[in-house]
Amino acid sequence: MRFLAIGECMAELAPAEGSSTFTLGYAGDTFNTAWYISRISPSADVSFLTAIGDDRISREMRSFLTESGISDAHVRVIPGKTIGLYMIHLQDGERSFSYWRENSAARQLAADPVRLGMAMEGQDVAYFSGITLAILPPAARSNLFDALQIARKAGCKIAFDPNLRPRLWAGTAKMKSVVTEAATFSDFVLPSFEDEATWFGDRSPDETLARYLSAGAETVIVKNSAATVVYGHSGQMGEVAVDPVAGVVDTTAAGDSFNAACLTSILAGKAIESAIDDGCSLAGHVVRQKGALVPVADIGLRARA
Ligand code: AMP
Repeated sequence: MRFLAIGECMAELAPAEGSSTFTLGYAGDTFNTAWYISRISPSADVSFLTAIGDDRISREMRSFLTESGISDAHVRVIPGKTIGLYMIHLQDGERSFSYWRENSAARQLAADPVRLGMAMEGQDVAYFSGITLAILPPAARSNLFDALQIARKAGCKIAFDPNLRPRLWAGTAKMKSVVTEAATFSDFVLPSFEDEATWFGDRSPDETLARYLSAGAETVIVKNSAATVVYGHSGQMGEVAVDPVAGVVDTTAAGDSFNAACLTSILAGKAIESAIDDGCSLAGHVVRQKGALVPVADIGLRARA
């Protein structure tokens, strides 16, 4: 499988256990999904489309990408720029975040339509999110939409996680209209119900499902934390119960890892319900550990260390 993830990877400063120091890592929603695919599916050809600066932290992030088995062929370097940064604060077990990403190079990831077209050529899947869309200026967003639709006509599957983050948008109305437009040309839409209920007012996961199917999405899979996943796929509707997970410590990247395993399995030809089971297995493993990127060597999927 040739998988192209599109978005922003940021430097992450996470508080080290029992001390006042911070550990440097790298994470970002679509990047996390690419990272998990490269872990669970060693034969996959995974690349990440983004833009970074030409400073040291940008170079270090790029090395992290390639050392993780992800291709940097579609990483664009913008001289004078840098990557975004976020810091995790931990108080009484609750996490909160500070972000420095307004001037991130990633905002220019879709500035060049020719580069976008080249990156998407020959891919089996192009994957993006509402966060990818939120950080782009309008003209770049339109470049990305055009490139995705051209790629789709050429046989590439388009996968989209709405990942609604109103603080990144000029207003919630804009966020909702752009996200809905993205769903019209997506083969897979992978929303999380809690976000959708908050910002679209859906009263049940079935309402989220119906809304994205009527927008034009081919397959919609609605995640709902520990509750049942509902889906619509090739005209068939169904649901898959999530096995209870004991010892949930951190739900960061639950949805991103779910998407990684679920998409990998669908693309490998597995039936939809079994692909959703795989998504739940990986996400269930991820929420039992701290951090966005956790080792997957000891779970039942075809993992590599
Ligand atoms: P979310 O994006 O939070 O709705 O979660 C994505 C997926 O992560 C869910 O479909 C579950 O498979 C898994 N997950 C998230 N939170 C939990 C939890 N508390 N217990 C078990 N699985 C969870």
